[in-house]
Amino acid sequence: MTHQLFIAGQWRDAEGGATFEVENPATGETLATVADASAADGRAALDAAVAAQADWARTAPRDRGEILRRAFEIITERTDELAEQMTAEMGKPVSESKAEIAYGAEFFRWFAEESVRIAGRHSVAPNGATRLLTLKQPVGPCLMITPWNFPLAMGTRKIGPAIAAGCTMVVKPASLTPLTMLTLGEILTEAGLPDGVLNIVTTKSTGEVMEPIIRDPRLRKLTFTGSTEVGRTLIEQAAEGVLRVSMELGGNAPFLVFEDADLEKAVDGAMLAKMRNIGEACTAANRFIVHESLAEEFSRRFAERMEQAEVGPLVEAKQRDKVAELVDDAKEHGAQVLTGGEVPDGAGYFYPPTVLTGVPTEARVWREEIFGPVAPIFTFTDDDEALRMANDTEFGLVAYAFTQSYSRAIKVYEGLETGMVGINQGVVSNPAAPFGGMKASGFGREGGDEGIEEYLETKYVGLAP
Ligand code: NAP
Repeated sequence: MTHQLFIAGQWRDAEGGATFEVENPATGETLATVADASAADGRAALDAAVAAQADWARTAPRDRGEILRRAFEIITERTDELAEQMTAEMGKPVSESKAEIAYGAEFFRWFAEESVRIAGRHSVAPNGATRLLTLKQPVGPCLMITPWNFPLAMGTRKIGPAIAAGCTMVVKPASLTPLTMLTLGEILTEAGLPDGVLNIVTTKSTGEVMEPIIRDPRLRKLTFTGSTEVGRTLIEQAAEGVLRVSMELGGNAPFLVFEDADLEKAVDGAMLAKMRNIGEACTAANRFIVHESLAEEFSRRFAERMEQAEVGPLVEAKQRDKVAELVDDAKEHGAQVLTGGEVPDGAGYFYPPTVLTGVPTEARVWREEIFGPVAPIFTFTDDDEALRMANDTEFGLVAYAFTQSYSRAIKVYEGLETGMVGINQGVVSNPAAPFGGMKASGFGREGGDEGIEEYLETKYVGLAP
C-alpha cells in the first residue's frame, strides 16, 4: 500500500518517487510504504497553504465550523477502522486507540462551536477622544509538527482551531506513525475542506524539509508537539523570522499521594496516570511521590494492579532500550523491583508494567521522561518537602495530587509549577480545557477558550468620531 503526499487537494508522489517504510511495532514487519518528501515538496505544500489563505480567511465562520462538525461525525462513524490503523502503526491496544479517537474527534466538535464565537470589542478611549475597535483575524499559514504517541489527537488539537480561525496549514506527522494523519486528510476532504487549506507532508528528511518552511517569511506560525530537545532547535529556527510559536514539549509529571489520601482512588488514579498509552504520554506520571506512612501499602496495591494491566508494545526498539536502561540505572542505584523490570523474549517491542520502590533521587528516572510502563516510587515526610520534590524538575506540564483535605489541595495546586494539575484524578486531558505547560514543557495552550487564540491575531483600530 502506497501513501502519498497531500498538497493543494491532490494526492501525489514525492519528488523522484522517494518512499519510506512504516513498521508495525507489534511484529517488526512493514505495514505501509509512504511518500518521502523532499525540501521542494515541502515548499510546494507551503505554496498551496499560502495560495489558499486569503479565500479561506473570508469563508463564513459557520461554514468552517460545519466542516469540522462533519469531520467529527465521519471520524466517529469510522472509529473501528481508524483504531485498527492506529494500533497497527503505533502499538497501543485497540481500546486505547478508540479512546484517543473519541478524544481527538472532540477537538473538532469543540472548535466547530468556537468558530462562530470569535469576537472583538468596541470601547471609548478614557479621554473620550476616540473609539477603540478590536478585531481578531486568522494568523495565516501555519506549520504543524506532531509526535507519534497520539497520532490523531495531537493533530486535531492544532488542525481544529486553525480551521475554526480561518488559517491554512502544512502538517507533518511523525514518520513512525503517519498513516492516521493521511486518513484524516481524506476525512477532511470528504467533510468539504477546500483544496490547499490542509496539506500533509510525510518525510524522513525531517530537518531538511522543515527548516526551509520555518525560515520562509510567508509562514506565520509554527506549532510543535514533541520533545523539548527538538523544540529548542525549532525555537531557534523560528527566532530569525520572529515567527509566532507554540510548543507542547516533554513532561516529568509528579504524582503526589498525601497521608490523608483515599488510597483506593489514588491507586485507580495512578493506573490511569501511568498506563494511559502504555506510559508513552507527555502527561504520564513519571515520579510517584508518596507520604512515607502510606508508601508500603500504596506500592503493594499499585504493583498488584500493574501486574494485571494489558499492554501493547512500545513504539520502537530504541524506545524500549531507553526504558530498560532507565530501569537498570535505578536498580544500580539500589531500587527494588516489585513487579516487571526485565525485557521479555519474543517478537515486538514489549516491556512489562514495572514498579520500583526505594528509588533515590540520584537515579535518572528522577530527571528524565521515562515514556514507558515504569513507575518509580519515592517518599516524603511533610507537605513542603513534597512540593519541593514535585517542582524539582526542568519540566512543568502536569502534576497529580491525591488528598482529601480541601485546604491542602489549594496549597498544593497553587504551589505546583505546572500548567495543569489533577486533584484526585489521574487524567486531565479535556478538549474544553487549556492543555499546556510551563518551564521546559513549553508555551501556548491547546483546547478550551485559549486554544483558538493561538491562531488569531488581535488588531486594534482607532476610530475618530
Ligand atoms: P520528537 O522526536 O521531538 O518528534 C516530534 C516531531 O518532531 C516528529 O514529527 C518528528 O519527526 C519531528 N522532528 C524531529 N526532529 C525534527 C527537526 N530537526 N526539525 C523539525 N521536526 C523534527 O518527539 P517524539 O519522540 O515523536 O514524541 C515524544 C515527545 O513528545 C515526548 O517528549 C513527549 O513528552 C512529547 N509530547 C508532548 C506533548 C504535549 O502536549 N506537551 C504531547 C505529546 C508528546 P520524525 O518523526 O520524522 O522524526
